[in-house]
Amino acid sequence: MPDDAAVKYLLDDAELPTHWYNVVADLPTPPPPPLRPDTGEPVGPDDLAPLFPPELISQEVSGERYIEIPEPVRAVYRQWRPSPLYRARRLEQAWGTPARIYYKYEGVSPAGSHKTNTAVPQAYYNSINGITRLTTETGAGQWGTALAFACALFELSCEVWQVGASYDTKPARRTLIETFGATVHRSPSRDTISGKAFAEDHPGSLGIAISEAVEVAAADPEIKYALGSVLNHVLLHQTVIGEETLRQLDKAGETGADLVIGCAGGGSNLAGLVFPFLREKLAGNQSPRLLAVEPAACPTLTRGEYRYDFGDTAGLTPLLKMYTLGHDFVPSAIHAGGLRYHGMAPLVSHVVSQGMVDATAIPQNECFAAALEFARTEGIVAAPESAHAIAAARREASACAESGREQVIVLGLSGHGLLELGAYASYLAGGLADESPDADSPSSVDLRTALGTVPVVG
Ligand SMILES: *Cc1c(COP(=O)(O)O)cnc(C)c1O
Repeated sequence: MPDDAAVKYLLDDAELPTHWYNVVADLPTPPPPPLRPDTGEPVGPDDLAPLFPPELISQEVSGERYIEIPEPVRAVYRQWRPSPLYRARRLEQAWGTPARIYYKYEGVSPAGSHKTNTAVPQAYYNSINGITRLTTETGAGQWGTALAFACALFELSCEVWQVGASYDTKPARRTLIETFGATVHRSPSRDTISGKAFAEDHPGSLGIAISEAVEVAAADPEIKYALGSVLNHVLLHQTVIGEETLRQLDKAGETGADLVIGCAGGGSNLAGLVFPFLREKLAGNQSPRLLAVEPAACPTLTRGEYRYDFGDTAGLTPLLKMYTLGHDFVPSAIHAGGLRYHGMAPLVSHVVSQGMVDATAIPQNECFAAALEFARTEGIVAAPESAHAIAAARREASACAESGREQVIVLGLSGHGLLELGAYASYLAGGLADESPDADSPSSVDLRTALGTVPVVG
């Protein structure tokens, strides 16, 4: 490597994006709308009013291409945004690849992941509408941390239902959320009807925790609910990632990317990174392949069905057209907690179904192997979720090494893994179980029968 080779591409404060990008404006066909379960009719703004403030509802249904980021939100973003884009030169050398690998690092945010990009505007819009409290769920703990931080800034109280298995095994996460001032409940809790439908020691799931948080918010006009992924407005807020990346690649002297990779749990960091690239692709300016990477143990896009399903376990949410493993699916306890969701954002599902974004599933041992190589060259301990994007980049980098192709690969490093060292400890102690929900049968219906289902509130 030449001594003066740049490894980091930064933008000035003045280059912080002023607008979020709404991909809906550029899609050849609109995504199918969410439906009311009782009538089968599309959900209207009134149906969402008990849960979200008006600005977020209008973003949820907006067809406008660019939506201005309010100044108070940009003022908070400036603490860590624009986030750095790095060229992974030492990793390229270690992998012996002619590919040029870049990573966009969201671990620099106060909560350590991209989730802060949407937590801040969500707390802001609620605060200007006189809301006093937000409820939410958290799986791995990243979203609960981000929302607790954002609520502290905008003087909202915050209640978090943390998936039981994560609550039991990650006390540090709970401490961090409480440090930012939020209250944490183990889900399933005894505080809600949705929670009480399950045994107190049940390991929980994101679907159950969402039901609990929604139930509490729906019952009180001063309490609203915040979701950390899946919905259109959440994906919208994350597009600052891709907008910055496009400018940074330009600074790096690249005319575009050949492959853009993001891990996908609910789809928000992936969408935030790739949707601005999709805009450029649809406009004919560049032609990157866009790739979603999910865990082999929760293969929503690669093995799920594309159909209407609930976003939560109890069936309190609207029906969303998405790739789903079934709303009663409880994935095995893999370490990438943020990727253990039964569904996928309707917008991401739509672009995948249209062939505009590809998907692949990778087992967790391969992801951790790649993450160790990443840590030992780039010095960053990646979140187990982000490790999926690294592993996909590694597959592509070795294909480039074999063929001699000089590709430009961009991967989304959605967060750091410094609070997930337990996962690294297990891997270092001799590997992890690589589970796939149904080795034998291809349909997700069989898959659920094979796994056994959990009871659903009636
Ligand atoms: C939550 C989380 C994810 C998965 O959520 P998406 O909505 O799919 O982005 C990925 N990476 C990190 C670090 C997370 O915290």
